[in-house]
Amino acid sequence: MQITKDRIVSIDYTLTAPNGQVLDTSDGKGPLSYLHGKGNIIPGLEQALEGKASNDHINVTVQPEQAYGKRDEALVQPVPRDRFPGAQDIKPGMQFQAQSPQGMRVVTVVGVDDKNVTVDANHPLAGIPLTFDVTVREVRDATPEELSHGHSHAAGGHEH
Ligand code: ZN
Repeated sequence: MQITKDRIVSIDYTLTAPNGQVLDTSDGKGPLSYLHGKGNIIPGLEQALEGKASNDHINVTVQPEQAYGKRDEALVQPVPRDRFPGAQDIKPGMQFQAQSPQGMRVVTVVGVDDKNVTVDANHPLAGIPLTFDVTVREVRDATPEELSHGHSHAAGGHEH
């Protein structure tokens, strides 16, 4: 069965950065299951999987525009230290949940000085071309319940 809209797809995958660092993998977790055609995975990977079938293997590099977007330097901003509880312990690389117009998002500390903590609200994978090595494990029609929820209920899918 081929991958197309409204089918449930299970994939094994490894995601690597341009420097070869493995960012994520299904190894040890089991396959990822998702509902195809609903934007549940990044657009570039969803497009690359369209029309593939069980046991097909793809290796695709997805540019930031089709993944987590380009970096926006306007999202790197100083925040007064007194807005952070425990400010004396804040170091670059730490991550916090912060309220933004798009809802809760993770911000990463990129600098600290006497007055301010500089945070970067870009997605950690924004601006990075991402290489996916994927093997398709299973393709089936979604159930009516999965379609109404907009996600997969298989192992490796949505849990509730
Ligand atoms: Zn559901």
